[in-house]
Amino acid sequence: MSQCTLAAAAKINLYLRILGLRGDGYHEVAMVLQSVNLRDTLHLTTQSRKDMSITCDHPQVPTDGTNLALKAAHLLAEAFPKQATGVHIHIEKQIPVAAGLAGGSSNGAAVLVGLNHLWGLGLTVPELQGFAAQLGSDMPFCVQGGTALGTGRGDILEPLPPVTGGAVVLAKFVNLSISTPWAYRTYSETFRHTFAEASAQESDHFVQVLASHSLAEIAAHLHNDFEKVVLPAHPEIAQLKQGFLDQGALGSLLSGSGPTVFALYSDATLAQPAVEQLRIDYPEVDFWVTEFCPWGVAMIQ
Ligand code: ATP
Repeated sequence: MSQCTLAAAAKINLYLRILGLRGDGYHEVAMVLQSVNLRDTLHLTTQSRKDMSITCDHPQVPTDGTNLALKAAHLLAEAFPKQATGVHIHIEKQIPVAAGLAGGSSNGAAVLVGLNHLWGLGLTVPELQGFAAQLGSDMPFCVQGGTALGTGRGDILEPLPPVTGGAVVLAKFVNLSISTPWAYRTYSETFRHTFAEASAQESDHFVQVLASHSLAEIAAHLHNDFEKVVLPAHPEIAQLKQGFLDQGALGSLLSGSGPTVFALYSDATLAQPAVEQLRIDYPEVDFWVTEFCPWGVAMIQ
């Protein structure tokens, strides 16, 4: 029996534009993906029985074949039947579920990295990302993490220089979840007429801003097309964003298709008192004070 423990980082989008609808049903996007230091912990233990099993300390996470961590294990086992063993996966959840933080994708990515190690497969990061792409658009990014430009359906990745410093605050209404397919569908129905003029080059300017390494500049240029459909449908999220700005945030944005909102502060000593006040103003919201993270998956043990 061998085992390993991995940390899987959550992801936010500093920039997200929806450029069109593709023939395969996915949307064409241009986005900047960024890991943040809010992580799940995954324990992988090989077992003599050939089967795969999974447990999780969070009741909302499925422990059947729909769990992305289990899907990742099955995918690698099918590709490498000789090296594959049975595996038990236990997930300690910190990343809120269905929050627009790619929690499931990060778990799947961690299993790919962990089994590559436990089964001695010797797969490279691009090879692992090839498997990840079969399971979800966000998963290839989660394998490597850090800061990256994502084009295509978000799975064609170009690493970008790391964003460092400052504090990132995440906030999520406890009882609110937003379906990503709903958000894409509603965006397409409402803004289809803008697709003709949309171009991936629009992200070039944001990439230049990132290269300036100025957090204030980055915060001033945050952009997420999903805000155009999510904020009108959920005015409480727009209010929370404004709450962050009133409490001194450099910038604030919906994360992915939401409902999580993040805010950037120049440092944690400014973020902490702001969050203390916001906790009073928004008792129905969970807050996390964290920071940018240069990786997606880390082997802890
Ligand atoms: P994304 O930003 O990639 O759209 P998300 O962060 O909004 O995803 P997840 O936390 O990944 O959302 O959960 C979305 C759904 O995926 C959950 O409702 C759950 O049913 C399912 N799921 C499958 N595997 C996992 C996992 N390991 N952890 C959390 N949710 C999972």
